[in-house]
Amino acid sequence: MEQIADPVSEQVREVVRAVMEILRTPKADDVPASVAANSFEAEALRAEIIRVGRKLWERGYVDGNGGNISARMCSKYVLCTPTMMSKRDMQPADICLSDLEGNILAGDRLRTSELLLHLEIYRVNPRARAVVHCHPPYATAFSLTGTAPPVGLISEYEIFVGPTAVAEYQTTGTRAFAESVLPFVHDHNTILLANHGVVCWSDSVTHAEWLMEILETYCKTYLISQQIGKPLNYIPQEKIQEILALKKRMGLPDARMGALHEPDDSGASINPDLEQIVRQVVARLEERGRS
Ligand SMILES: [Zn+2]
Repeated sequence: MEQIADPVSEQVREVVRAVMEILRTPKADDVPASVAANSFEAEALRAEIIRVGRKLWERGYVDGNGGNISARMCSKYVLCTPTMMSKRDMQPADICLSDLEGNILAGDRLRTSELLLHLEIYRVNPRARAVVHCHPPYATAFSLTGTAPPVGLISEYEIFVGPTAVAEYQTTGTRAFAESVLPFVHDHNTILLANHGVVCWSDSVTHAEWLMEILETYCKTYLISQQIGKPLNYIPQEKIQEILALKKRMGLPDARMGALHEPDDSGASINPDLEQIVRQVVARLEERGRS
């Protein structure tokens, strides 16, 4: 097997990755909703949601009042887009603050009924810090056939997205709709919703929107390639293995990760020594933050 990196640098990378995970994990906090709604963090997230909403509209991924965006805040709140509003026209006051049960705590408007879908993703996958749902035409066309686009054709797509799943059709806004993605949210950051659209999760709203762009461009390019009338050349399997190793180092999910031929392909936990180092590094960082 090809040696990817020397053991020490690989361990350092693992420590850094673990520290980032811990720092990203929301602390148990007791911030009142009114304080959370008026915080600098909420202000920055609202601005990001509005910017990404415009981007989705400009790219033609949201039609009418379609699509919705959310971001987690602290350990118990979510900021989300309102219902019945074009993603082109949102203002900061339109963005709702919700708890993890979907109760609105701040904001001038009613939340989107599809927030339940976002909340289910946050509930089962703590790595999801932002969710974007919309109806980009080429990817949505695949959802009408109940099939995911083929993989192994474009490296950018393989790295950031990879195999997508198709969640079964359910009536929008219902609990069954929200739960339809649950079998897929750990191994896929991008899921097609049958006869509906697409949902992506990531560590930020901006990154979740990137996944949407990468998927939509991929679907479009694939469909154009079908018009050329020549057989497609697929990326060789050994190169796909290199991409999977890269994804593992980047902390990106991929349903093929189990097939990665590395000595430790579980990706489940770090060894006890490293865990101890991580604890010390985090304690030091927290101390520095307090002083
Ligand atoms: Zn929708």
